[in-house]
Amino acid sequence: MRYIHGFRDGAAAAALEQLIGSEVDSNREYHLMEFCGGHTHAIFRYGVEDLLPPNVRLVHGPGCPVCVLAMPRLDAAIELAIRRDITLVSYGDMVRVPASRRRSLLKARAQGADVRMVYSALEALEIAAAHREREIVFFAIGFETTTPATAHLILEAHRRGLKNLTVYCNHVVTPAAIQSILDAPGAGDANQVRIDGFIGPSHVSAVIGSAPYEAFSQNYHKPVVIAGFEPLDVMQAVFMLIRQINDGRACVENQFTRGVTRAGNIKAQAIVSEVLELRPNFEWRGLGRLARSAMRIKSAYAQYDAEKRFVMTETSVRENAACQCPSIIRGQKKPTDCTIFGTVCTPRSPIGSCMVSAEGVCAAYYKYRRTRNGLPA
Ligand code: SF4
Repeated sequence: MRYIHGFRDGAAAAALEQLIGSEVDSNREYHLMEFCGGHTHAIFRYGVEDLLPPNVRLVHGPGCPVCVLAMPRLDAAIELAIRRDITLVSYGDMVRVPASRRRSLLKARAQGADVRMVYSALEALEIAAAHREREIVFFAIGFETTTPATAHLILEAHRRGLKNLTVYCNHVVTPAAIQSILDAPGAGDANQVRIDGFIGPSHVSAVIGSAPYEAFSQNYHKPVVIAGFEPLDVMQAVFMLIRQINDGRACVENQFTRGVTRAGNIKAQAIVSEVLELRPNFEWRGLGRLARSAMRIKSAYAQYDAEKRFVMTETSVRENAACQCPSIIRGQKKPTDCTIFGTVCTPRSPIGSCMVSAEGVCAAYYKYRRTRNGLPA
């Protein structure tokens, strides 16, 4: 814990607050997007926005892996889970996400499906080894942080000769999502979402390095600061972004030097590229179909690919008309713009994906920004 307390220190936060205040130009506005839901959660939990001058706005981005999974992919996972010969294994956040027709993996489990929650991808390996009579499907989701664990799972299954384990691969790619936000129609329009710089995710960057963000600073003139998930990390990143913007600079800076390098984790990257490759395109909830934005299993490991072993259909579905998740994920709206926030849609009864995960923007607003009567502040 001694490595955490220092990054939550009140006196240091007050000093950073002053530093940011002295750097900010009161004649301009700063719109900074924190890409990752982990940052969003830290910002709300520690009240970081309250420490910033009013002309520094934090825009909450799409970096919650549960929130961006397209509903047809989740529907397909539920269809797998209800098969009597299949055990579906996934991370805990995923089981409560609402699918079409108000279904979820949790409800499927209540109706008899064998759905199991795990903390680590490798737990699926042990389940497969212990139940060789069943088909074990690992429902793999996440950004680059969790992708190496899935690739490692496949390599381990191969090494141990397990024939009853497959992976339903839904891993997505951070730079592609940032690119789509920058390329969105109206991205430069003052009436649309305006972003002057990005706070980049440190856990993703520990794997991929800081180099992949350089295209955004070079091609779009947007500064990027890779930051840790403690409140002082975020505040320092805000200060570094404001300083770049004031100087007219746009480069990639690394606040999280304690874990991120320019090259990233070469060994993890090698494991991923051994087993997985980019899909030509992939549907994201809220962002639409994005080119080269997700991973699939290489043909050399096709025997571990659930999409190859089972017949899986993705049907198009309509989101709840009231849900503003797509606009929220793009940073165009806030949860308080949704008419059913905190009333019909709550963490106990989520309508949209942004309310399900602790990293979802709506869940963070609900937990930290409600008034006593449950309505938005
Ligand atoms: S409050 Fe619920 S319904 Fe509204 S945008 Fe958020 S997740 Fe969607």
